[in-house]
Amino acid sequence: MAKQIQAIRGMNDILPTQSPLWQKLEAVLRDTVAAYGYSEIRTPIVESTDLFKRSIGEVTDIVEKEMYTFADRNGDYLTLRPEGTASTVRAGNEHGLLYNQEQRLWYMGPMFRHERPQKGRYRQFNQFGVEVYGIGSADVDAEVLMMSARLWQKLGISQHVKLELNTLGDPAERAVYRDALIAFLEQYKEQLDEDSQRRMYTNPLRVLDTKNPEVQALLVNAPELMDYLGEETKAHFSHLCELLDAVGIQYTINPRLVRGLDYYNRTVFEWVTDSLGAQGTVLAGGRYDGLVGQLGGKDTPAVGFAMGLERIVLMLETLELTDDVRGPVDVYVTAMGDNCRVEAIKIAQQLRDIPGLKVMSHCGGGNFKKQMKRADKSGATVAILIGENELANEQVAVKYLREDKEQQLVARDALATYIAELI
Ligand code: ATP
Ligand code: MG
Repeated sequence: MAKQIQAIRGMNDILPTQSPLWQKLEAVLRDTVAAYGYSEIRTPIVESTDLFKRSIGEVTDIVEKEMYTFADRNGDYLTLRPEGTASTVRAGNEHGLLYNQEQRLWYMGPMFRHERPQKGRYRQFNQFGVEVYGIGSADVDAEVLMMSARLWQKLGISQHVKLELNTLGDPAERAVYRDALIAFLEQYKEQLDEDSQRRMYTNPLRVLDTKNPEVQALLVNAPELMDYLGEETKAHFSHLCELLDAVGIQYTINPRLVRGLDYYNRTVFEWVTDSLGAQGTVLAGGRYDGLVGQLGGKDTPAVGFAMGLERIVLMLETLELTDDVRGPVDVYVTAMGDNCRVEAIKIAQQLRDIPGLKVMSHCGGGNFKKQMKRADKSGATVAILIGENELANEQVAVKYLREDKEQQLVARDALATYIAELI
């Protein structure tokens, strides 16, 4: 037998049994952004490598070691997008959507990072994200956080996620802090781990979110960015906190929260859960007022977040919140005997006029037992049975497949109403 070809490591198939849960999640996301008046943007999966180098930052994990980059047949360097913000800004600049305008956008789709695959961390994964342009005030930071809180509510996982919040200040404030932090870290240079030593000069703020407990212990007395912020950035942050208080969104201020991408300023946040083990961040984002300018547009304030869909699906499964997910079939229509087949497909076709009803016709014939086995396997709630008797009496039998309820004979012309009420 020929050797089977396998999927690429860290890249998953979403199988027919799993897709109803994905579709439910995607529907909740679409409905939620629609409720806030956001518009969808779809960008290509492949972009110029330079786009990500210039936006995410040369000395970030993503650009240093996680990107899928290749030369195409013309020798141009292309990259499978590792995130959605850079592409959204690129498209916004290219089509003149950003300068002097307000845009509230969302996207959803696959992203690619060459990381070590493990639970909740894959090489192809899906993100849903929102990006808002043209509004610098904290009320819109609050809006995207309110939107994320509403998502948790709709998915039934509010009690399992918490919000961590920080401000990174503006670039000038951060530059002064950076020097102070480097001076502090230099005292402990020998004790830092390899990663932290490497980042100390290139990206010292990243040292702050080390997962290494020994390095964490050294950082207890590190200078705090909060002490280096000016009045304006402080006011922006406290206004955001006031708004969150006013709408009842709880948060913890985490001065060590820095995020792994270079383009953030002022507000940064993460929603984290402890129901997934190590991969606990389910949604992350912040303000990035400098990025539009950095990518060649006119300066435009911006804020957004990205959420990892696989981690949400894992949470819903782990917490067993998948009961109300409807399968692909509600009604399975069978026909006993050749004479009944035409009637059966007519009935199925007519039932499909009921909005949202999912009807599967039995195909391929076979005896009663075989057809019932298929009906059961389809996951349908009821089966419709048509035999010679039913045909002669202009009736059908409705058999309940999931509950202990007696089979019903229903008049042919009353069937649509009967089924519509049932579902
Ligand atoms: P992490 O610290 O978990 O690596 P990150 O800071 O790299 O996350 P972002 O770039 O902010 O993550 O992406 C936003 C969200 O996308 C994450 O919070 C997570 O839910 C999801 N995500 C990121 N990388 C992966 C991955 N390799 N596999 C699955 N989901 C991911
Ligand atoms: Mg990462």
